[in-house]
Amino acid sequence: MVAKQVQFRCLMCGHEYSGMYDHDNVTERSCPKCRSNSVRRLPDAKAAKK
Ligand SMILES: [Zn+2]
Repeated sequence: MVAKQVQFRCLMCGHEYSGMYDHDNVTERSCPKCRSNSVRRLPDAKAAKK
């Protein structure tokens, strides 16, 4: 029931945007710019850096 806000990047046009990552609904992802569904979730930018 936890939705995290994460960054996504479109592999088609390179557009980056933030959205909710929901484990129950991971297939419903599409780029708001070009509507491609080739969208990849970016690693958490605020995660501990090494
Ligand atoms: Zn796109």
